[in-house]
Amino acid sequence: MNTPTKLVENLDLFANATQQFERALTWIDGIKVGIIEYLINPKRTIHVRFPVNMDDESIRTFHGFRVLHNRIRGPGKGGIRYHPNVTEGEVAALAAFMTWKTAVVDVPFGGGKGGVVCNPKELSRGELRRITRRFVAELGDAIGPYTDIPAPDVYTDQQTMAWIYDTFDLMHPGENNLAVVTGKPLEIGGSVGRDEATAQGCLLATERLLQHDVIPGMQTLDDVRVAVQGYGNAGATAARLFHEAGARIVAVSDSRGGVSDDDGLDPNHVLTHKGKTGTVLGFEGGTDISNEQLLAYDCDILIPAALECQIRTDNAHNIKAKLIVEAANGPVTAAADEILQEKNILDLPDIVANSGGVVVSYFEWVQNLENQQWDIDKVERRLKKRMDRAVDNTVERWKALNASSKGNANGHQSGATLRDAALVTAIERIATVVLQRDIWP
Ligand code: NAD
Repeated sequence: MNTPTKLVENLDLFANATQQFERALTWIDGIKVGIIEYLINPKRTIHVRFPVNMDDESIRTFHGFRVLHNRIRGPGKGGIRYHPNVTEGEVAALAAFMTWKTAVVDVPFGGGKGGVVCNPKELSRGELRRITRRFVAELGDAIGPYTDIPAPDVYTDQQTMAWIYDTFDLMHPGENNLAVVTGKPLEIGGSVGRDEATAQGCLLATERLLQHDVIPGMQTLDDVRVAVQGYGNAGATAARLFHEAGARIVAVSDSRGGVSDDDGLDPNHVLTHKGKTGTVLGFEGGTDISNEQLLAYDCDILIPAALECQIRTDNAHNIKAKLIVEAANGPVTAAADEILQEKNILDLPDIVANSGGVVVSYFEWVQNLENQQWDIDKVERRLKKRMDRAVDNTVERWKALNASSKGNANGHQSGATLRDAALVTAIERIATVVLQRDIWP
């Protein structure tokens, strides 16, 4: 297959996922067209529309999705997102990222993702509870410990996961249902370390990548200048952990804007300020900046930890960071990838960088099935082992792809990216299992 080097940008996330996938395929020989179609498209998409009693006694109908992208390597796995702009295509793309991520980091899951179109900022706790319970009831046996296992994502949290578990458990009495969902509170089968796992995984992956000496003069995080876009579960925790690891957090942002300080922000103080005011803007001791300024901030590492398609052809040229670490899913468009590559900016892709979340979700699932509770040392040790292995494999594959002339022959004159390398590994692992299991009948 021949892919042109200059991609036309498409801000539809599934179109982007397809462009990334097709680009990676140019390094792989011998996969049949039918398998390629099977590997990119979702296996199943469920739409549900359901009524909910609102606090003002009105009734509103909500629209939710659950996409099971692929379950060839194990049950579907992936978060549930509450956001006003959730679409079927976005959820399908996020589910595809999960299929590839679980393969790269080698946990025995496939990929899934869900979403409900709603604005949590305008909903009360009671309304969110009723939306969640009804959504789970509508999905019925489409989710389950051995079929498809949800987790937290944007604007869903431990409490949402507790409601999901409780609703499913009421529908399936007499069984151990803890493993139907991960990211639960500790008291009902959550795993220690799950809350921090995505950010912890990002930190471990970044440290391991730097040890490979891929960025001249930056082998550790010591006094490395970091900017973080998004100050939620992934972003705020990443800012704190990178700070604790010796980096200097020079700028952070959320949906309302950002704040910067070249001498370094204290992420805990910023979080306290956000807790009080609802935003990082206005943090005393920092200077308010816009999200565009944050992305273009003079720093060494940029961590997008908000939403998808944030780094595009219209702003990729402005980026000054030497390394991008994708805590968010799909933050860089496929066309922007080419610009970053031309600018020699390395990008650790989402399917490696933020895979710590699904790794510790896997640990939680195992503990639930065995009625075990691991301690934090065991979780952290095992997480580090898997993150190190995923990064080592990706870097080795990247070097090997760049040493071969195959990409050049297919029009990729600048060679392979780390994303290409991770995707090649994922596609090969999944295709191998498809053939091993054989196609029935
Ligand atoms: P979250 O809801 O906890 O936080 C999202 C943050 O992004 C909020 O601070 C919000 O204000 C900010 N934000 C929203 N729009 C923004 C914009 N346009 N510019 C700047 N900031 C903006 O969500 P999260 O769980 O931290 O997820 C963030 C990203 O990380 C998503 O892409 C998600 O898919 C990915 N992710 C999360 C996990 C997890 O375990 N939570 C795991 C893997 C990947």
